[in-house]
Amino acid sequence: MKDDCIFCKIANHVIESDYVYEDDLVCAFRDMNPAAPTHVLVVPKEHYATIVDGVPQETLAAMAKAIDEVVKSEGIDESGFRVITNAGPDADQVVKHLHLHVLGGRFLGESLLAE
Ligand code: 5GP
Ligand code: ZN
Repeated sequence: MKDDCIFCKIANHVIESDYVYEDDLVCAFRDMNPAAPTHVLVVPKEHYATIVDGVPQETLAAMAKAIDEVVKSEGIDESGFRVITNAGPDADQVVKHLHLHVLGGRFLGESLLAE
């Protein structure tokens, strides 16, 4: 765990959050500034900076399973959803701990990008 990392703290319950799913490798909790009716962050418990920071296959599989569990429990598996991960400055990654945004619960627009 990285001591100065907010998502390390939330994923390991040093700071509590609004969790919607958890297993040994990952957890999922509600974004504090939601962009859609469902806006959940899927976060590994170990610290990785981005999706391409040597994340083990087992952890990637756990993240995929977490998406599956979250979209079902949120009731958006049929209506649809979007999964986004920001990596680095051009993507405006703010929190430097790998996280997947799972968004849904309304029509998310035709454009992949806001601008
Ligand atoms: P990024 O731009 O890094 O992909 O997005 C970071 C996301 O984390 C933002 O949507 C922001 O609202 C969310 N976030 C940042 N700090 C916290 C926090 O302490 N708790 C929760 N629940 N969400 C956070
Ligand atoms: Zn971290």
